[in-house]
Amino acid sequence: MPSESQKKRLGALTDRYHESLTEEALSYLASRAIGQDGVTGFRLGLVTDPDPMHEGYVGRLSIPFITPTGVVYMRFRCLEDHDCKDLKHGKYEGVSGDETRLYNVSALHSAMGTVGICEGELDAIVASASGVASVGVPGASAFKRHWYRLFDDFETVYIFGDGDSAGRKFSSELSSNIRGARALPMPAGHDVSSFVQEFGAEAFRQLLME
Ligand SMILES: [Zn+2]
Repeated sequence: MPSESQKKRLGALTDRYHESLTEEALSYLASRAIGQDGVTGFRLGLVTDPDPMHEGYVGRLSIPFITPTGVVYMRFRCLEDHDCKDLKHGKYEGVSGDETRLYNVSALHSAMGTVGICEGELDAIVASASGVASVGVPGASAFKRHWYRLFDDFETVYIFGDGDSAGRKFSSELSSNIRGARALPMPAGHDVSSFVQEFGAEAFRQLLME
């Protein structure tokens, strides 16, 4: 775990980046079905005046990993309209050397017998705002085996994989390793955000009934 002073520093940066959000960044988030409640609740931000350790992330969306003990990690999403592969950087990046973490672990404490697992942080925000408190795995292949036991005590664990081949693999792997898991892969070409953006949160909740 990061030290108290690291958490304090990340907490202060979370506030600084959150206050730097621009209309452009907010409209990007709105296009991903994340409204003001999600932006504020999850303390999303924009890196404009970076801490020295975040200098490579100017212009990126900051996604703090907030736990009951403070901010333990931060990831940054590229907001440029290009294929990040062409520029040889990841769409999502975190400071190298930091341990990969599960996003929105508070879902594990707030949920009543039910929790969701999404691919990616932004999908976890959208699923949570749409009625299923959800954690986010930072990347389809980033799940760590020791995370499985976090879901032991839940009656139902929804797995919201993307509607692509990596997402289907994610869904089937997690559902075969988690008791009480129910795979609810998104329709082809969709992730949770695009699904809710196109069809609405009510349609997302309807998926749970099927
Ligand atoms: Zn990029």
